[in-house]
Amino acid sequence: MIDAVLPTYARQPIEVARGEGCWLEATDGRRYLDFGAGIAVNSLGHAHPHLVKALTEQAGKVWHTSNLYRIPGQERLAERLVEATFADTVFFTNSGAEAMECAIKMARKFQSFAGNPERDRIVTFTGSFHGRTLATISAAGNAKYTDGFGPLLPGFDHVAFGDHDALTAAVTNETAAVILEPVQGEGGVRPVPPQCLRGLRELCDARGALLIFDEVQCGYGRTGRLFAHEWAGIAPDIMAAAKGIGGGFPLGACLATEAAASGMTAGSHGSTYGGNPLAMAVGEAVLDVMLAEGFLPRVSEAAGRLRQRLEGVVSAYPDVIEGVRGEGLLLGLKCAAPNVAVIAAARDAGLLLVGAAENVARVLPPLIVSDAEIDEGAARLEAACEAVRRAAAA
Ligand SMILES: *Cc1c(COP(=O)(O)O)cnc(C)c1O
Repeated sequence: MIDAVLPTYARQPIEVARGEGCWLEATDGRRYLDFGAGIAVNSLGHAHPHLVKALTEQAGKVWHTSNLYRIPGQERLAERLVEATFADTVFFTNSGAEAMECAIKMARKFQSFAGNPERDRIVTFTGSFHGRTLATISAAGNAKYTDGFGPLLPGFDHVAFGDHDALTAAVTNETAAVILEPVQGEGGVRPVPPQCLRGLRELCDARGALLIFDEVQCGYGRTGRLFAHEWAGIAPDIMAAAKGIGGGFPLGACLATEAAASGMTAGSHGSTYGGNPLAMAVGEAVLDVMLAEGFLPRVSEAAGRLRQRLEGVVSAYPDVIEGVRGEGLLLGLKCAAPNVAVIAAARDAGLLLVGAAENVARVLPPLIVSDAEIDEGAARLEAACEAVRRAAAA
């Protein structure tokens, strides 16, 4: 008989009871160091006091009004995001996929509004992930997610990740936009080098295509800057953010320049819940913490320590883990053993990791992770590697 919960997830055998900081406690009392952070969502860990206060205070005022009325928290958060980024305007959503849907619609609308309706194609990359709606699985074009769900949304041209010649050929006078994750997350933690981001910006400008970054996973402080593309010194025209933006409250955003958003007039797009007062209160609280002096530099410092510790584990267990890749606190362990075996052994050692493509185990701790927790995580990973090695020898 089918489970009452639609069985679309192969779930780990952990029943979560509560969380605090980087730690999760199961109903059986076991404590786990959470280096999955809800897939890069719990950017400030679990039950952060500033977020709890913001949410509970707002809960006593008003939960929902719809976007038929002005929502002061929405205006404040949008203004703060505009102030902190390349963007001039923000549309709030409830998820990353919806932020990407808005980005895709906005790019097509921009071109038709500008008198170029023939520019309706969008270039994307293999290994990318943009969400699970029909448009976003069509955009990524990964058979693992599209199989059986056709017909897909037409208009996407998929280019092999890292193939510069194919990319140059793919961006034509029918291209509305190019969509890229500055660091591929689900695809196996693959960073795009800064010079490639700059080259892509030039290519888009030269060909009249918009540049869309999907920073749903790599953005919001994870690489040590508010957004990962900032390291390359360039900016997109449109960008999707989500995951870390709400610290665990469902929230996403599509940010854009005034020019890119020019077709999005009243009535052109909408969302019942997007920008809801509860989400806005939490979103503002997340930003309070993340933009506080010293927060982002500390992420880089923690990332340096974590990487060094993980490299240490790799050199002791090269038969289990081949190497470490990624940026900041978006790291991937390229496994020699099956990544599912490493993740299961880590879980048994009290450390939560997340799988990714290319046999990678992602290490995505909350951005507030302490030095002691980093060292503890590395020790638990070492214990997991020892168990995987023993099992292989048995
Ligand atoms: C998770 C993710 C999405 C989809 O976000 P949802 O909130 O699950 O819809 C889109 N893009 C990237 C890069 C992601 O990592």
